[in-house]
Amino acid sequence: AKQAGRNTLCLFDPQMQAGLNKRAALEADLRNGLEQNQFKLFYQVQVDRHGRPVGAEAVLRWEHPRRGLVEPGEFIGLAEESGLIVVLGRWVLLEACATLANWARQPAMAELSLAVNISAKQLRQQDFAAQLQGLLGRTGANPQRLRLEITENAVLGGVENTIAMMQALNKLGIVFSMDDFGTGYSSLTYLQRLPLAQIKIDRSFVGGLNDENHHAVIVRIILALGNSLDLQVIAEGVETERQLAYLVANGCRYFQGYLFGGPEPVAQFNARFNG
Ligand code: C2E
Ligand code: CA
Ligand code: CA
Ligand code: CA
Repeated sequence: AKQAGRNTLCLFDPQMQAGLNKRAALEADLRNGLEQNQFKLFYQVQVDRHGRPVGAEAVLRWEHPRRGLVEPGEFIGLAEESGLIVVLGRWVLLEACATLANWARQPAMAELSLAVNISAKQLRQQDFAAQLQGLLGRTGANPQRLRLEITENAVLGGVENTIAMMQALNKLGIVFSMDDFGTGYSSLTYLQRLPLAQIKIDRSFVGGLNDENHHAVIVRIILALGNSLDLQVIAEGVETERQLAYLVANGCRYFQGYLFGGPEPVAQFNARFNG
């Protein structure tokens, strides 16, 4: 009876209860936000060595009626745990495809590619490739311009399944980028097995390039690895000329970060090209 008492006590820990209430409230808020069209995609430019735009990464924002503009750090985790990411992610893909189709009609933007963040749960849906095919058909977006950014979590559902799904999407013309590269444990194991077109150097390593330290060595190794495996390498979180110079000197060819621009609403992003 004492044991049960202790457990009961733990269950009714007021702090824990407050946390649960907060989660439940946020989850309800998320569902409501989806119904009310409160989500927006922002676009962050990606450039080549000459600073010329080659594409963008789409990042999600929540225009909350009371909280203002909410960044994904505040809600993606819960969206993933609750499974809402599947519905939210489908909306993101539809919106991204519609944007790509729109760019294709503007000569100055027709060559741009668009990278979309995909959570592991989305990739694990049996009908994910069919869904994408449907979205491409509906919007008229060119699949060759679409890149899906995945993280190492993607393989947790089984590496064979992941490879099969990636291959099915490759057949549609869609390519993959490994996001946050270098932050996981098994990067090297999967690097050769997954059908990737690109790896993305995590911004924690790029940020560390400001001071003389081991981050410089890690960045150099990732670049050498990518180049020798014929993978495109892009650096994210590039904020300074010094970081850029180091990356260029070590063979990096694509860049993304505040030095070139932060995430912008689509109209602002488009104005870069048609202004
Ligand atoms: P990520 O994929 O690593 O996205 C890049 C993040 O770095 C973005 O934050 C962007 O605003 C930020 N960033 C860009 N340039 C710089 C820079 O120069 N310096 C610094 N310090 N930061 C920079 P954001 O938009 O808050 O996104 C955070 C994370 O949320 C993303 O990390 C991604 O994992 C996730 N996320 C965003 N949109 C989506 C989505 O549509 N679906 C899914 N599943 N996840 C998303
Ligand atoms: Ca941010
Ligand atoms: Ca990303
Ligand atoms: Ca990243």
